[in-house]
Amino acid sequence: MPFTTRFIDGLETGLPLGKILCVGRNYAEHARELNNPVPTSPILFIKPSTSAVELEDPIERQFSHGDVHFETELALLIGERMSHVSADEAMNGVAGGGLALDLTLRDVQSTLKEKGHPWERAKAFDGACPLSRFVPVEGDVDWEAVTFHLDINGQRQQSGKTSDMLFGLPALLEEMTRTFTLEPGDVILTGTPSGVGQLPRDAVLGLSLSLGLDVGTRTR
Ligand code: ZN
Repeated sequence: MPFTTRFIDGLETGLPLGKILCVGRNYAEHARELNNPVPTSPILFIKPSTSAVELEDPIERQFSHGDVHFETELALLIGERMSHVSADEAMNGVAGGGLALDLTLRDVQSTLKEKGHPWERAKAFDGACPLSRFVPVEGDVDWEAVTFHLDINGQRQQSGKTSDMLFGLPALLEEMTRTFTLEPGDVILTGTPSGVGQLPRDAVLGLSLSLGLDVGTRTR
C-alpha cells in the first residue's frame, strides 16, 4: 500500500509521498564517529517512496537483511514545487516537520563504499525509512532552534539541534534544488547527529521533536 503522509491530527496532508531526498554527514560529530571526513558540500542520496513505513509500525521485517543501524533525523515535508530556490525563500516551501529513522545496513554500506558502489542496497530497501506524522508549519518557525531526541529503552541515545548542522536547512534546500526539483509530497531527511548505533531487538523507541511531536515504536 502506498504510504500516506499525515499531519499529527491524523488527517491526510493531500501530498502523495514522492522521493525522500537525504543528506549524509550533516553533523560534524556524526561524521567523526564513523571516521568519515567532514564534507565540504552536502552528500546527497535518495530513498524511494517504497522505503517509507509508518514510524509507529514495529520494526521487524527490516532485520531480514541483517544488522540494522538507526539514524534519527528531522524530516521536512515539501509543500511546493521547488527548483533553484534561494536560501532566503526555501523554507516557504516546507509544509511540515516530522521525524524519520534513516535505517542503514551499516556493514553492507561499508562494503559498498569500499567498492565505490552506490548505497541503495544499504539505505533504500523496503522499510528503510520509518516516517512520522508531520507538524504543520504555520507562521514563522525558528528553524535554527529545532531540537529532537531518540530514547531506546528509556536511555537517551541521540540528540539533535538544527543549529549544529554543517549545512543549515535553508542552505541545504538551496543546494538540493540546484540538482533535484522538489515536488509537493517529497520529504527531506536532514542528517543524523552523533549517537548512531545498532538497533537492538525487542526494544522500545521514543522520539520527540520540539515542534510538538512525540512518537514511539518498538523492534521485534
Ligand atoms: Zn542519515
